[in-house]
Amino acid sequence: MDSVRRIALIAHDNNKPDMLEWARFNRHRLTGHELFATATTGRLLQEDLSLAVTCFRSGPYGGDQQIGARIAEGLIDLLVFFWDPLEPHPHDPDVKALLRVAVVCNIPVACNRATADFMISSPLMSRPHLARPRVA
Ligand code: PGA
Repeated sequence: MDSVRRIALIAHDNNKPDMLEWARFNRHRLTGHELFATATTGRLLQEDLSLAVTCFRSGPYGGDQQIGARIAEGLIDLLVFFWDPLEPHPHDPDVKALLRVAVVCNIPVACNRATADFMISSPLMSRPHLARPRVA
């Protein structure tokens, strides 16, 4: 069905409380979609909110790259990525690569709660939307 979106969710450690609060507030909206996440973010969403989430590796251990690869393959429709703007991370190159491929592939990306709220409540969530870019 066109209205079921494949949503990837990632939050850096300092942003996990924000992600959980956002997901709790929007739980009724998220349940209609297919959810993916890096390991720790996904486990928290499963445990705290009983959401069904397909988990990849933890971000620093390749999870961001796994999600980036799926975006490149056209297997993820939206990215909610609460990355931490106040701390350096050992996997900063992966973070940059993930954000880059998401822009290249023209998928919606939310990096904070305000944008994530606008995105998840958009009328386009339930309508067909041609989000794929021209592919080289
Ligand atoms: P995590 O990974 O969900 O396993 O904490 C997120 C990240 O740090 O990129």
